Amino acid sequence: MDSSVSKNTTEELEIQTHCDPNIDDIVGVAVGPRNDLEKFINFAETFCPFLKFTHCISNSSVVFLDTELSISDRQIKSNLHFKPTDSHNYLMYPFNHPRSCTNSIPFSQLLRARRICSDDQDFAKVSKQIISFFEQRQYPQRVLSNALKRIQGIDRASAFAPKTDHTPTRRIPLVLSFHPSVTPIVRAIYRNVETLRHDPSTRDHFPDPPITAFRIEKNISKHLVRASQPQAVVPDTPGTFPCNRGRCNTCPVVSYDKNLSIVGPNNNRFNVHQHFTCTSANVVYVLVCKRCNILYVGETKRRLADRVTEHLRSIKQNLPGFPVATHFNPPSTCSIRDLMVSAAISCGGSDHDRLAAETA
Ligand SMILES: [Zn+2]
Ligand SMILES: [Zn+2]
Repeated sequence: MDSSVSKNTTEELEIQTHCDPNIDDIVGVAVGPRNDLEKFINFAETFCPFLKFTHCISNSSVVFLDTELSISDRQIKSNLHFKPTDSHNYLMYPFNHPRSCTNSIPFSQLLRARRICSDDQDFAKVSKQIISFFEQRQYPQRVLSNALKRIQGIDRASAFAPKTDHTPTRRIPLVLSFHPSVTPIVRAIYRNVETLRHDPSTRDHFPDPPITAFRIEKNISKHLVRASQPQAVVPDTPGTFPCNRGRCNTCPVVSYDKNLSIVGPNNNRFNVHQHFTCTSANVVYVLVCKRCNILYVGETKRRLADRVTEHLRSIKQNLPGFPVATHFNPPSTCSIRDLMVSAAISCGGSDHDRLAAETA
């Protein structure tokens, strides 16, 4: 929550608030009597009866997430804060993970510290602590001293600079399930591709070597634990329900509000009376913008999810000439998060039936 407070002429507090549902921590600096600040916090408590704020006010230093802020020489100083309960359980080095992955963790943690610590002496102290955490996880000295050397060449301002190299690569991904025994295979492929790249008869077909990407195979915990449980659905309930197939990208956008009332372009109201899922075929469907109640009616003889995937792709890639993509992309204030999909009518298999229902 990002809010600014000012007093208007009628001595009432005026709050301008921009809420992001994903942000639940806020830190701020207040200049003025402590009483006023406490009054404001009490006022904030009345925003919503279901929200309870916890707060901490200090004249010297305050901890915010992983950062400790303090005032020194009339300036705000920041330092990395480790929670006393933090067990620093970084990935164990000897475990079977791609080396490029484990080798990059110490540097990324040092980079985080470099960004947070405004004082170089604090950073030197914190980086020693970070290195000791990785020693406990059996990281070799070679990896740790490389990471330390690399971070020492970066000052704080450069640590904030965004990555500049965004050139899209044309290298073909070589996707493999990771296992330590795969490494020699990858090396052999690269060696042979080099031969093909330099041979006059094949070099046009192999301009670049492939780029290796490792996928993690399902482990025992993935087989035993599910992040979400499929919803139990009575098969005849009216509405459109998630199909709960793994990786279905339509499930998160379907509306299973059985009272969903669709208001058509001519102000005619329509209620869904049939039961649908993402895999229902031969349907007339609606795409609704939750923000402005704008409606797009379409029909498909394929499965609803197949057609919705195309809509989602057109929105994500902001394809020109697609009204749905235009509606959910800037300069429009609506985004893909406002999209809701519902099947409306099930039709017979013929194109004529569907088109007649769509225009009805
Ligand atoms: Zn689905
Ligand atoms: Zn909209």
